[in-house]
Amino acid sequence: MAAKRVVIVGGGTAGWMAAAALAKLLPGRCDVHLVESEAIGIVGVGEATLPHIRAFNERLGIDEADFMAATRATFKLGIEFVNWGRIGDSYIHPFGTFGPGGGEIDFHQFWLRLKQQGMNVPDLDLFSMACTMARMNRFALPSHDSRRLDSTFGYAYQFDATLYGPYLRGIAEKMGAKRTEGRIVAVHRDGESGDVTSVQLENGERIEGDLFVDCSGFVSLLLDKTLSEPFEDWSRWLLNDRATAMPCRTAGPVTPYTGVIAMPHGWRWRIPLQHRTGNGYVYSSQFLSDDDAAAALIGAVEGEPIAEPRVLRFKAGRRRRSWVNNCVGVGLASGFLEPLESTSIYLIQAAITALLELFPQDEISPVDRNEFNRLIDLEYDRVRDFLILHYHATERADTPYWDYCRTMEIPDSLAEKMELFRRRGRVVKYREGVFLDASWVAVYLGQRVIPQGHDLRADAPSPESLVAGMRKLAADIHGLSEMMEDHGAYLRRYCPMKDAA
Ligand SMILES: Cc1cc2nc3c(=O)[nH]c(=O)nc-3n(C[C@H](O)[C@H](O)[C@H](O)COP(=O)(O)OP(=O)(O)OC[C@H]3O[C@@H](n4cnc5c(N)ncnc54)[C@H](O)[C@@H]3O)c2cc1C
Repeated sequence: MAAKRVVIVGGGTAGWMAAAALAKLLPGRCDVHLVESEAIGIVGVGEATLPHIRAFNERLGIDEADFMAATRATFKLGIEFVNWGRIGDSYIHPFGTFGPGGGEIDFHQFWLRLKQQGMNVPDLDLFSMACTMARMNRFALPSHDSRRLDSTFGYAYQFDATLYGPYLRGIAEKMGAKRTEGRIVAVHRDGESGDVTSVQLENGERIEGDLFVDCSGFVSLLLDKTLSEPFEDWSRWLLNDRATAMPCRTAGPVTPYTGVIAMPHGWRWRIPLQHRTGNGYVYSSQFLSDDDAAAALIGAVEGEPIAEPRVLRFKAGRRRRSWVNNCVGVGLASGFLEPLESTSIYLIQAAITALLELFPQDEISPVDRNEFNRLIDLEYDRVRDFLILHYHATERADTPYWDYCRTMEIPDSLAEKMELFRRRGRVVKYREGVFLDASWVAVYLGQRVIPQGHDLRADAPSPESLVAGMRKLAADIHGLSEMMEDHGAYLRRYCPMKDAA
């Protein structure tokens, strides 16, 4: 069977992730040809990731320390949310479980039960390895032995977004992927089927393909500009539409977590890398001007700025379908949900995984296409609800921005999830969807969505034995974390950035 000619439009993070994965994992099945324009450039932000990226890198045979050195990466154990429920609040959304994990009854149910009975129990954070390590600024790789407490956390990376694509390019090209530099000025389609047949560059060259992967970023050259696939606008719930980004020198410790600090009209990120700290203010242009956002960011960053603030514009939502005709949208070309929970690169990965699983063997079948779109819809919907929760579950009323968020109508799917949690601390479980129980529990409790009841099965053990067990668990987690290396020292030993050697 002849290999499919796959044309990837765009060489940002999405384009090179797609090129590397297709070339490496479907050898002989597809000939990969990527087109990108250096004059147009890439969006160049996207520094924080989710733990799933490790599986993606592993499948590509990437050596972790080499990749981290090349992208100047640090480890990420979770996200610290500051000032979200109320000004002065702080909690961590950890990667990993609360408690030892794996039990039939979720750990937080026992904790809730004791709290509801008025018992004096430590904060839930103290039962999470990831939270404890993050607060203590420690790091070690997790154990592979699932009986051990230090196997109960996960981790992701914080890296220089402009270096990940080039790193993957090396892998893709080694596997035979071809790259053409140039601006696409026309897209040609079959008169009968409407399928895209080729893209044409400024110099007149035409690149033909059987399957096109639209990784053209916010421009959405194929899905939007060519196929006119409608955009589902979610900005009534996720009203931020701007970000101003500005890196600075690192002042203080290189923390193994991303900071997201609620601001009067949005929030600010703080992402420590090996060579600098990334910062940005994400806000709504209805409530804040670009100049005021830049001034607020400059006033807030901890270290000396090393670039001027740069404004990025976006709208929350997604294309109604991500795979239309013979075009598959991956990355910003198919949709964007703001970077609060670092989900964009994860969504790219989810789309690539679904494409690999459903890659056409001969003709493109509508059944494969529908299944792809169903999977991507679920991913987007669940990320959307999780993000909206952060804005809606707040007591803040100090600005019109937070007033709007607190009082806005939310999707029914989220309202039901919140009601279920309020009644008995239950988290809706899904087969597909990125965020697991601990993520939802951390955000609900961290933002003061407090259950009235709990899972009645948590009433079985005596309160004395539960309290004693919990105190020992917290002490064990603390002790294990204390024995670990400082995060900065770990990085210097494990994966020092290449030009710093
Ligand atoms: C403010 C902000 C913060 C973010 N933070 C995070 C984060 O912390 N974590 C995370 O996971 N994600 C984050 N993201 C998202 C992340 O940046 C993107 O998902 C990621 O960079 C992928 O972008 P892309 O490859 O889809 O598009 P781009 O990087 O925009 O690449 C588009 C490519 O298409 C090419 N192209 C476009 N038009 C043409 C043409 N006519 N001819 C030829 N080539 C063309 C361009 O040259 C470029 O190569 C953030 C996004 C924003 C806006």
